[in-house]
Amino acid sequence: MEKFTKEELEKFKKLLLEKKVKIERELERFAKKDPKLGGDYDTNFPDFGSHQSIDEGALEVADYESSLSLEHNLELQLKDIDEALERIENGTYGRCQQDGCDDFIKKERLEVLPEAKYCMKCLPNTAKHINQ
Ligand SMILES: [Zn+2]
Repeated sequence: MEKFTKEELEKFKKLLLEKKVKIERELERFAKKDPKLGGDYDTNFPDFGSHQSIDEGALEVADYESSLSLEHNLELQLKDIDEALERIENGTYGRCQQDGCDDFIKKERLEVLPEAKYCMKCLPNTAKHINQ
């Protein structure tokens, strides 16, 4: 059993908040925040000028699609960070979120990925989740 001290929790909270700001800045580079849905972002659709050739237009669509998936990944990360911050507040931070598992996630892992949700044992089951 690993328990976190108040200082350690503060450190992880700081890491999470710093990461959150970084991701929000990243999102703002190519997406605008949807005022209706807090925390949701709309990817700006490229402006298709009439002077463009079809090839250039197709390239922009590809860019738009890669922006969409990047935006989606960043949003998922933001969600994980918010959830981790909630867990710090309610005292369950560092516990594996897998149903039926209540193990502690290793501190070394949380230092690299402070929003980690699962312990190493549960990782293969959740490999489809990015960054987890
Ligand atoms: Zn687990």
